[in-house]
Amino acid sequence: MSDLRVTFLGSGDAFSAAGRHQAGYLVHAPEGGFLLDCGAMTLMAMKRFGIDASVIDSIFISHLHGDHFVGIPFLLLEFHYEQGRKRPLRITGPPGTEERIRALIRATYKEFSGEPLPFALEFSELPPDSPLSCGAVRIEPFRVPHQETEISLGCAVEVAGRRIVYSGDTGWTEELITRSHGVDLFICECCYFETRLPFHIDYPRLMEHRHRFTAKRMILTHLGREVLARQGSIEMELAVDGLVVDI
Ligand SMILES: [Zn+2]
Ligand SMILES: [Zn+2]
Repeated sequence: MSDLRVTFLGSGDAFSAAGRHQAGYLVHAPEGGFLLDCGAMTLMAMKRFGIDASVIDSIFISHLHGDHFVGIPFLLLEFHYEQGRKRPLRITGPPGTEERIRALIRATYKEFSGEPLPFALEFSELPPDSPLSCGAVRIEPFRVPHQETEISLGCAVEVAGRRIVYSGDTGWTEELITRSHGVDLFICECCYFETRLPFHIDYPRLMEHRHRFTAKRMILTHLGREVLARQGSIEMELAVDGLVVDI
């Protein structure tokens, strides 16, 4: 194992195309574990792939769509009842993150939500282009075109001397080229093939720009039904649930 490992816990879209898990990516460095997004089955995926959830020190939520954050109450239950966690958990995300997550916890486990947790749950809401250091991880969020009024973020992550860029959910934007320039790993959404929308990316669009991407490794994820039906003709690397990337 390299000292920096990224595990794709979920490579599917909101519809869990072909039974794939929704978004969740664990960045695991000696300095700690950092979760990018937390879709519905993220805890289940960690157990399925033999990863102890206690490695998570902090969580970054790219945007407040359910397939990216509704797994959080299950993680909190695991930390509280199964692990007796004492150390703090920091959740970072776009403006509105704390209110939406607290409402989610109330909606799913009302009595639990009214009790104090034995560990500190800390929130940092990040306006685009406001970098934040979270332990040994430096996060630089940037706004991507995915929702009309709510803010959706992609992010650049720097940890253990390496750089990872995650697109979050996004339509096409030139930022994908510039932000991912020369990084060690670029995790890029690719939701559609035939369908072209301003708020998600389709594979032909990525192919049009393929020669312009300079990341050392680029992996497509958030894969929808159309992309999975065409896997045999796709020339870029596709994620699968459980994919492990050492960088
Ligand atoms: Zn999504
Ligand atoms: Zn979304």
